[in-house]
Amino acid sequence: MTLLDRLAAVVGPQHVLTDEALTRGYRTDWTGRWVGRSMAVVRPASTAEVAEVVRACAAAGVSLVPQGGNTGLVGASVPADGEVVLSLRRLNSIDSVDPVGRTLGAQAGVTVADAQRAAAAGGLMLGIDLAARESATLGGVVATNAGGLRVVRHGTTRAQMLGVEAVLADGSVLRRWTGLAKDNVGYDLVGLLTGSEGTLAVITKVLMRLVPPAVDVHVALVGIASLGAAVDVLGDVVRAGSMVEAAEFFHADGLALVRETLGLRPPFPVDHPTYLLLELSRTTQDDVADLLERQGRRVADATIDAGPASRLWAYREAHTEAVSAAAASGGTPAVKVDVSVPPARHDSFESELRTVLTARFPTAQVVTYGHLAEGNSHVNLLGLPEDAAEDATDVVLRLVVQYGGSISAEHGIGRAKQRWLSLARSPADIAAMQAIKRALDPQGLLSPGVLLPPANPE
Ligand SMILES: Cc1cc2nc3c(=O)[nH]c(=O)nc-3n(C[C@H](O)[C@H](O)[C@H](O)COP(=O)(O)OP(=O)(O)OC[C@H]3O[C@@H](n4cnc5c(N)ncnc54)[C@H](O)[C@@H]3O)c2cc1C
Repeated sequence: MTLLDRLAAVVGPQHVLTDEALTRGYRTDWTGRWVGRSMAVVRPASTAEVAEVVRACAAAGVSLVPQGGNTGLVGASVPADGEVVLSLRRLNSIDSVDPVGRTLGAQAGVTVADAQRAAAAGGLMLGIDLAARESATLGGVVATNAGGLRVVRHGTTRAQMLGVEAVLADGSVLRRWTGLAKDNVGYDLVGLLTGSEGTLAVITKVLMRLVPPAVDVHVALVGIASLGAAVDVLGDVVRAGSMVEAAEFFHADGLALVRETLGLRPPFPVDHPTYLLLELSRTTQDDVADLLERQGRRVADATIDAGPASRLWAYREAHTEAVSAAAASGGTPAVKVDVSVPPARHDSFESELRTVLTARFPTAQVVTYGHLAEGNSHVNLLGLPEDAAEDATDVVLRLVVQYGGSISAEHGIGRAKQRWLSLARSPADIAAMQAIKRALDPQGLLSPGVLLPPANPE
């Protein structure tokens, strides 16, 4: 029996896709920059089927790439050279929302938006939110340790994790599921799998904590002179004791792209160099207005709306989509580099970055936006010559290191940044990660070439 026959026997022939046209969407990443070859796309519907698929691939020595919503931005969700794509999207049921224990247990293919809706129906909220919510899956956010819009309030995905079920590379099923606040038995395998980017196991279920929903929410969009001024305003807002639910930034060039893509009206009568979007809870419209008034000339203009579902969010959330649309019309995918630096140095980092990049790559348009509280810039380079992507990434990441930052804030290392791992981690650290990889996946079956260099053949 061939591997494809065996896979079809496990999941049903209609869930083993080999046709080029049918598999294209699974082989091409969200940015269009990463397009791979795949032996097949396999779509199991249960943990038992995932385990059987993994066992069959292991026996045949064929590598696998787990895939959720395929919204990842570092090229890790798609195959490179013939791997089987293991799509988790059919594992899409929510097992439990516990309003007393404040937990949500769900299969890995449930989208973030569906999990949010289930939490809301139980009077609670998921601590994770991101613009890709309608497609990104819980398995994907766990595998990438996604950050997103609520990190300033609730932390990254790792901080939401209470338990996990995952299929290991030999097909065995690991389950940590007590949900207890105190459960101190052995290594933190839930934390280890969180952020493992599909390289250590296939996540099939997640148990996440839920939080009480924010109340009396207001959203303010603030026109401001610089990123430094935005950081200062945020500092004052925090010092004033305000409950910050989100703090985001973008600049005039990004806003222009968003307005063009979505056909939105300008938020203010005149443009400002930088914009700060603040979401505050347990407050009133008047209190937010007073708070911003007290900032004096730091705040050039501001508009305040009742939240959380404010129309002001669109100006920030549509940036990723608008950059992609601009790249598509230019004919070359954007080069996307997600980084973080200490917030106090964020402004000088971005200024120097623009100077260095435009001097080196005169055709490049540098569009940045991101999560202000964590010093997290999404650096997008448009109009770069196709063969300059690696050099430009190199320039960005080396500058990040000079500023004491991280070469991956929230998107992971994936394939896009694999060759720069040693900029951010010591040889001992990389060796420890490689030892963990060898212990859990001795054949190197799961997502080869993602995060770590491919293992040397023994
Ligand atoms: C418009 C837009 C906005 C975004 N905003 C943010 C943001 O604010 N913050 C942020 O952190 N990211 C953001 N992202 C990136 C992306 O949405 C996240 O990385 C998300 O966590 C990916 O989820 P996914 O289900 O799409 O995973 P995929 O893209 O399918 O996969 C991502 C990685 O996870 C692995 N993986 C997926 N599912 C599993 C599983 N079940 N078991 C094991 N490994 C698995 C894959 O192999 C791959 O390495 C954004 C993307 C877009 C397009």
